[in-house]
Amino acid sequence: MSDVLAVADHRRGELRDVSFEIVRAGRELAADLGGDLHVAVIAGDVDGFADRLSLEGVDTVHTVDAGEEFNHDLYAGATAALFEELAPTALLMPNSVNGLDYAPAVANRLDLPLVADAVGLSYDDGLEATREMYGSKVATTVEVSEEPVAVTVRGGEWPAVEDAADVAVEPFDYEFDEATSGARVQGFEEVGAGDVDIADAEFLVSVGRGIEEEENLELIEELVEATGATLSSSRPIVDNGWLPKNRQVGQSGKQVTPDVYLAIGISGAVQHVAGMKGAETIIAINTDPNAPIFDIADYGIVGDLFDVVPALTEQFE
Ligand code: FAD
Repeated sequence: MSDVLAVADHRRGELRDVSFEIVRAGRELAADLGGDLHVAVIAGDVDGFADRLSLEGVDTVHTVDAGEEFNHDLYAGATAALFEELAPTALLMPNSVNGLDYAPAVANRLDLPLVADAVGLSYDDGLEATREMYGSKVATTVEVSEEPVAVTVRGGEWPAVEDAADVAVEPFDYEFDEATSGARVQGFEEVGAGDVDIADAEFLVSVGRGIEEEENLELIEELVEATGATLSSSRPIVDNGWLPKNRQVGQSGKQVTPDVYLAIGISGAVQHVAGMKGAETIIAINTDPNAPIFDIADYGIVGDLFDVVPALTEQFE
């Protein structure tokens, strides 16, 4: 018993990024344990998903061909049944909206200790998980003395595995009847018609409280248009009702990993940084040379956004 079972995540026909990241987390852990990595994909186009999850380091993809979309009873039941069949040392589930729904039920059903929201994992005489606490101010190491163990894995913390490989795909028989299930997906509601998902953006221009007034957002929108970027913000902008919630980056907003993150008038509070520290290149514009955002920025402009932003827009135009 030294294997790892990782469960993939998908929504509306698309595998979520965390599915490829959890493969990396699982692959590293399986290497520490000297065991195999099993990946489970449940519901939807399982054959298509299994193709995409046939990745370097995966030993077997198990498909559960039942239902179309996420369903609590299906995921909890099928994950627990597969776990009992494979008897792995560690069960990894995504710390996503879906994962947070079924992971506690699986741990409870199997009587496993559950480490939630892990940002690092290793194994040396027992599983060690890194978790962030106090708004990401403190990183703690949780040593789990029991085995097997269940973990939910935070998205955006492990690089995605992208290299395809020849992997065995095994259908796993799990009887599921949605009609008798207590939980059912009734439908999906888009957050703001025609709006974008900032988590997918490659270039984010992000605005913070330094903008002072809602009318001044026009300055930032002009820069967004000139650069072809996507607009995001810190929380006060959303709390003021100046931008919708789906534009908020951070601990209580979205996790983003763009190629470029341009932070304008954002101080760099830990709760904000928690959502954008994975950006490839961080650029900050701030009047305060001691603003914490400069600690993580690759490039910084100490200056007044009301001077710098129009100048940048002009350059891009
Ligand atoms: P401020 O901290 O007020 O910073 C404004 C910055 O603008 C300053 O650095 C200032 O020097 C600069 N500035 C001012 N004028 C100019 C100018 N003319 N030109 C250039 N720079 C200028 N925050 C998030 O962003 N996302 C979250 O998801 C989030 N979740 C939270 C969850 C919890 C539980 C808690 C307690 C807090 C959370 N916060 C979150 C809030 C967070 O603590 C900060 O309050 C927030 O990030 C600050 O936003 P800001 O940087 O825009 O504003």
